[in-house]
Amino acid sequence: MRSFWIEFLTAAASHPFPAIPGDIPTPYDFDHSEELFPNVPAAPGMPCAGEDRSIYRRGARRWRKLYRVNGHIFQAKRFNRRAFCAFCQDRIWGLGRQGFKCIQCKLLVHKKCHKLVQKPCSNEHVDPVEVKEDANGESTLGRASSVRSRAEPEPLPETPPAPPAPVRAEDLEPGSQRHYSLEDFELIRVIGRGSYAKVLMVELKRTKRVYAMKVIKKALVTDDEDIDWVQTEKHVFETASNHPFLVGLHSCFQTPSRLFFVIEFVRGGDLMFHMQRQRRLPEEHARFYAAEISLALHFLHERGVIYRDLKLDNVLLDHEGHIKLTDYGMCKEGVRPGDTTSTFCGTPNYIAPEILRGEEYGFSVDWWALGVLTYEMLAGRSPFDIAQAADNPDQNTEDYLFQVILEKTIRIPRSLSVKAASVLKGFLNKNPAERLGCGEGAFLDIVNHPFFKSIEWEMLEQKQVVPPFKPRLEGERDLANFPPEFTDEPVHLTPDDDTVIADIDQSEFEGFEYVNPLLMSLEDCV
Ligand code: ADP
Ligand code: MG
Repeated sequence: MRSFWIEFLTAAASHPFPAIPGDIPTPYDFDHSEELFPNVPAAPGMPCAGEDRSIYRRGARRWRKLYRVNGHIFQAKRFNRRAFCAFCQDRIWGLGRQGFKCIQCKLLVHKKCHKLVQKPCSNEHVDPVEVKEDANGESTLGRASSVRSRAEPEPLPETPPAPPAPVRAEDLEPGSQRHYSLEDFELIRVIGRGSYAKVLMVELKRTKRVYAMKVIKKALVTDDEDIDWVQTEKHVFETASNHPFLVGLHSCFQTPSRLFFVIEFVRGGDLMFHMQRQRRLPEEHARFYAAEISLALHFLHERGVIYRDLKLDNVLLDHEGHIKLTDYGMCKEGVRPGDTTSTFCGTPNYIAPEILRGEEYGFSVDWWALGVLTYEMLAGRSPFDIAQAADNPDQNTEDYLFQVILEKTIRIPRSLSVKAASVLKGFLNKNPAERLGCGEGAFLDIVNHPFFKSIEWEMLEQKQVVPPFKPRLEGERDLANFPPEFTDEPVHLTPDDDTVIADIDQSEFEGFEYVNPLLMSLEDCV
């Protein structure tokens, strides 16, 4: 039996316009609208005068979801060691062994078992509830009372399980795999922040090599939400280590309050930073980035991963000017061709119409987001024009943005070439079945699109094509391409708060430690 989400999107369902059904012809128009980046900023990384950065940097989010099977309404739950699955009788706990609880009859099962439950729910009659939740766990509740009671955490065991002790290199037998801890690294600077993480530039003391360190507070993960994303982010980082246009993983470790991903440091900064300086890109540059991003997305898709969070701030430039995608926290893994999923998540400006309509979706959502991003590179503004609406409170809301994405005719600047306009129309087709990259020809339709005619795809994938722009860098540790608002921040991590840690079920994070064998052997050669 198929499970499906019944989290009626607060945004999509409540806005005053009906969602557009099935086949929609995608109308286009051409215009000369204002740019999002109206002038050149005083210094690299500074906002332009009058620029509303919140529109673009507005973060990635997940919305809470519920699954209905045999009358049960399951919600992801965090359990202590005493919870057992009603289907397979096995324990439910630990990273990647997520539990579901029926909000009506309280039946407990593994996530992986929930579709197999034969026993019908004993209590089918409750009203559906709208729940919308952001990364900080603040919920906008449709019917507050019933949701609040459901959101109560499971009781903890009398003696909470002790945090797994970090394994230190010197504690291990020679030849066995070493794990890292915070003391192995010198924290040099803050280089970025997203909706979930703080990212630091660090040095591995032993080798003096520089890495980026993505730090996530466990409290953000352990918020009664879908927790699989940490496991997914780790898996995808591992997969990504094999591709030139994806940020790879060095190691993972944890403290009682935080999770740490040590990843490749990509020196050239993110595309958001560069767009703020350059306002809009020549077609040749945008073509190069869009083509490299396409290869990165195709690599992930071939491995069953939907990226789901393509945006300017997740595309980094290396020291030569090649792109690298980072941030796999929104990825969906295990998707086979033709499979679909339904989680309402992403960054509002880039969310595909099929997600907003509450439809099941697949890889198509990434090609939509590439359309939005390519539009931003070529036009210097979002296709959804929300920046101009910043002064009107009615139009500066997420609901309004979603309505615009669903219904508004996308205007293509007249200054763009016919081929560029055509590729944008291709990716920004509101009907995923007709979208470029999603039809019969799939990825080949992108490769063969006239906009990409000059791209030599095989050379590109080998990094044999010289990038059109080389980030200015003086040395390996130059941070000129990172916004001063981050690099000026104090680099220390705030001390652990015992009351916060007491609420964290450490058993959830068992097995998080990881060392990439490939990078380890490289290091040993130093
Ligand atoms: P979040 O999941 O919270 O969005 P990200 O992984 O996107 O966090 O990181 C936030 C920001 O940090 C990015 O937008 C980027 O500017 C910077 N960043 C992330 N990873 C790296 C990296 N490997 N090298 C350099 N900068 C990075
Ligand atoms: Mg990010």
